[in-house]
Amino acid sequence: MAIATRQHRFGELFPSAPAFRWRQAEAALFQPDAKGWGSVSVFPKAMREEAEAKIPWMSVALDRMFESRDQETLKAVLSTEDHLLFETVLMGNAREQWTVCVSSQVGCAMRCAFCATGAMGLKRSLNEDEITDQLRFWQSFLRERPEADARISNVVFMGMGEPLTNVDNVKQAIRTWVDKTDIGPTHITVSTVGVLPAMDQLLEDKDWPSVRIAISLHSADQTEREKIVPSTVPHFLDKLADWCRRYRQILGNRRHHLTFEYTLISGVNDTPEQAEMLARFIERCGKPKLNVIPLNPVSGKPFTASDQKRIELFKQVILRHGIDVMQRRTMGDDIAAACGQLATGEQPHMI
Ligand code: SAH
Repeated sequence: MAIATRQHRFGELFPSAPAFRWRQAEAALFQPDAKGWGSVSVFPKAMREEAEAKIPWMSVALDRMFESRDQETLKAVLSTEDHLLFETVLMGNAREQWTVCVSSQVGCAMRCAFCATGAMGLKRSLNEDEITDQLRFWQSFLRERPEADARISNVVFMGMGEPLTNVDNVKQAIRTWVDKTDIGPTHITVSTVGVLPAMDQLLEDKDWPSVRIAISLHSADQTEREKIVPSTVPHFLDKLADWCRRYRQILGNRRHHLTFEYTLISGVNDTPEQAEMLARFIERCGKPKLNVIPLNPVSGKPFTASDQKRIELFKQVILRHGIDVMQRRTMGDDIAAACGQLATGEQPHMI
């Protein structure tokens, strides 16, 4: 079942309203003190009342909330109008601001071997409102908190789902955020398993905002990657290297907006030889940055994290090639909110 968007319902309810009315409606959604259509004072009274009765102010509702013991990570389980559950995460970042991790789908069709979301399969893609409102949800959550300076500075598409198989809704949500908040496109990251046809389209799309792109690589060996990332197409690595070349050509100095992600799995992709192979592949791609992510355990999966000594060794090999490498800090693993742990099954410590 497709859930009608707010814009669609607005159009049906007020077919003769001039275009500026919808623009006012969208602006109101992001006004800190607006609590519902009833408080949109630029609307005539009748319009306010009809909108209040017929158009949801929020497309998602809070089902349950979890907070990590260190209080740096919060996870909200949200429910859609058709009663599906999905997750969104709020993380304190190094600059004492917050990063929101959003989902683009309920579940995921990609079935990466080490990821909890993949194991639940794809229920459906989220529509533009359901993506947009994850940011609005956390904004209004933070407004209720005592710290007055609590600001969301970044958004990452690293929750449930593969954003590039839902690209129109993802793009629309990003455009709304960029338009209606102070979060600029370079503070938004779209993480993809590497959906090449959609990636090709991004290069051609003049309306695609200049967000950061993160590509989940996990192996620089075609055969090995096919084992852990089953959506890997034949000759993926060659095609990706070619895509990176075109990305640099077309987007020029925006090269630094490209990152590779690499989840380190003990005995699978973490040897010094594999690091060497990865470094050579990154060089071939014009040296995008590398983020290594220690594997977060997922129940029922046969994988374990590499120990820190191994991770250090791996990073050293990369660094010797003059490649910028960052190890992503594990956050929220005690509430199953860390990368790859999002799945709406049994949940720990509820608040
Ligand atoms: N579908 C997108 C977004 C997924 S989640 C993508 O594939 O990029 C964001 C990151 O978390 C991806 O790099 C993903 O591979 C990684 N990830 C998945 N499961 C993980 C796990 N168990 N431990 C650590 N990282 C994981």
